[in-house]
Amino acid sequence: MARCAFCDADFETGPGDILLICPYCGTAQTTDGTKFKDHYMIRVHFNQTEAQTTLLDWVSKQLGAPQDLAAAARFLKYKQIWYPFWISRVDAQSEYSGIGRDAEFHNEWPQRRGAYKRIRFIEKPESGQFTRRHEIKIPGTSGIDEDVQRHPIPTRAKEFFSHAHAEEFDGKVLHSQMNEEQARAKAKKIAHDKQTALIMDEVTKVTHRTDNLDVGETYLVHVPVWELEYRYGKGKYKASVAAATGYVIESKYPRSMAFRAMGIGIGLLALLVGAGLLAMGLGYLPPLFPMFGIVSGGIFALLGLVLMYKGISRKEAKEEI
Ligand SMILES: [Zn+2]
Repeated sequence: MARCAFCDADFETGPGDILLICPYCGTAQTTDGTKFKDHYMIRVHFNQTEAQTTLLDWVSKQLGAPQDLAAAARFLKYKQIWYPFWISRVDAQSEYSGIGRDAEFHNEWPQRRGAYKRIRFIEKPESGQFTRRHEIKIPGTSGIDEDVQRHPIPTRAKEFFSHAHAEEFDGKVLHSQMNEEQARAKAKKIAHDKQTALIMDEVTKVTHRTDNLDVGETYLVHVPVWELEYRYGKGKYKASVAAATGYVIESKYPRSMAFRAMGIGIGLLALLVGAGLLAMGLGYLPPLFPMFGIVSGGIFALLGLVLMYKGISRKEAKEEI
């Protein structure tokens, strides 16, 4: 529990929450009651009904989805969750020198342009620099689903956080388990890693390196997501839809009987072809394709088994964009 330093209301907090959003007045504050000003949000553009329609539209177009899905689906749960993210701008400049790899080509084959009998790799010193501006995004609380973490946030459209706007949709605004100082430190580390990746594309070994990392504008932004659950037939399926953009972040959906039957049919065919090729390869049948029998036969047989398993299993499908 915590007491709001601005409206005096008591509210719930979880373990590790250190930057708190009062659910009564919406003020972002530290645990000692200091107001945090750089608090933004992305505005909702898809209300509950629109998010549900967008989801069903999208799901209906997926491979193997039942044709009556949009008409027959019934929504069981719909909750708008406002997830906290820290966004940090980091200007990075790295100078490096190290050892790069180069190749020398010898003895081109006379009949084959561009093909060489011998390629020799040589090491040679290399140096350079990378100047980049990174926009680093860090989840403000643990337990945010990975697909939600990865989904694009239109940060250019950010506005100051409005408690009234979140309340309009009965949204639940999550506290942050990270404060600004920690977010800045983490952003700096992530930017450093990104610079390292750029450098390691150029050299295999770094002998000298200097980095200048300037952590600039850093703010907390709350991003609204519709967490939905619907029923189709006997199954229940979960989905997340970005309330700002209508982007289907993640969705589970049923496969139609026809699609699953088709999977089993193709699987059986592949299995038979595979078995035939294997038999040729191993000499039980006259060899039509002696070289490839065992390898491709094995691949076909395996593919067949996988398809049949997918067709038979009742597990729902999950698609990501
Ligand atoms: Zn308050």
